[in-house]
Amino acid sequence: MPFAPRSADDRFVLVTEVGTRDGFQTEPKFIPTELKAEVINALIDAGVRSLEASSFVSPRAVPQMADASEVMALIRRKPGVRLSALVPNARGAERAAAATVDMMACFVSASETHCQANLNKSLDAALADFADLAPIAHQSGIALRGAVATAFGCPFEGEVSIDNILKLVEAYLRGGARHISLGDTTGMATPPVVTRTVEAIRARFPEAIIALHFHNTRGIGLANVMNGLELGVREYDASIGGLGGCPFAPGATGNICTEDLVYLLHECGYETGIDIEALAAVARRVQEVMERDLPGQFMKAGPRLRLSSLQSVRRAAG
Ligand code: ZN
Repeated sequence: MPFAPRSADDRFVLVTEVGTRDGFQTEPKFIPTELKAEVINALIDAGVRSLEASSFVSPRAVPQMADASEVMALIRRKPGVRLSALVPNARGAERAAAATVDMMACFVSASETHCQANLNKSLDAALADFADLAPIAHQSGIALRGAVATAFGCPFEGEVSIDNILKLVEAYLRGGARHISLGDTTGMATPPVVTRTVEAIRARFPEAIIALHFHNTRGIGLANVMNGLELGVREYDASIGGLGGCPFAPGATGNICTEDLVYLLHECGYETGIDIEALAAVARRVQEVMERDLPGQFMKAGPRLRLSSLQSVRRAAG
């Protein structure tokens, strides 16, 4: 059957919640530290086993993430739950190590132009930062994840060079990051692009553990997940309620939505360890505190077999 697990021991899909990092980082109004921690703790209570909770970037560059250490300290850690944070350089790695994260997520853009625009440095300079921070992670026994940003297209350059992607993956693996995430930073992934990128990486680096990070910019985020499942990828990033995108930048949309993703995975026979109803309750709470409608749909519609009473439905068709 298409989209079904291949065998009984192939059922588990790791869902990495990135909403409090990828989603919150673009919010113009500072979200109180306690509220960030409340959302993270509720997600862990709902069964989420992997979270990219915050970001140890420069507080001047991203004021919303200035409280990364405080947020980490308020999280109720549980065995079996992987808590990671975005780390751009050695300075960030020192702070992340002091906060005892389980994993540091590093990122370099596969597009030279995007790298300059986003990180204000060349791809090689960004890789040098990774080489500086990797030993800090190793000394503290912290796992590393290397993210390839704009892996499926760049808004300035168009198609990204597969050679650049392979160069980044090679540098990550050499630096001790076995986990590689492919970031659809600007929502340019389509199933054929994902297939050729994943296959090219696997052909050269079969030891890489690939995760996919999709944004739903063009409405096909979950179609890209279905394709990833067929390719055998078993880790996906998503954000609660579909958080993300900048309210002042039209077209910059959020990640795929965690509860919609989990609903799809469960319906296809995969396991995530997550209680979907508890997750939807967190999504509704986040929507309430953000004081705006979030894109997530499962939290509004519920599961397909939640039946309505006939009296509750207004007749519109005549
Ligand atoms: Zn992202």
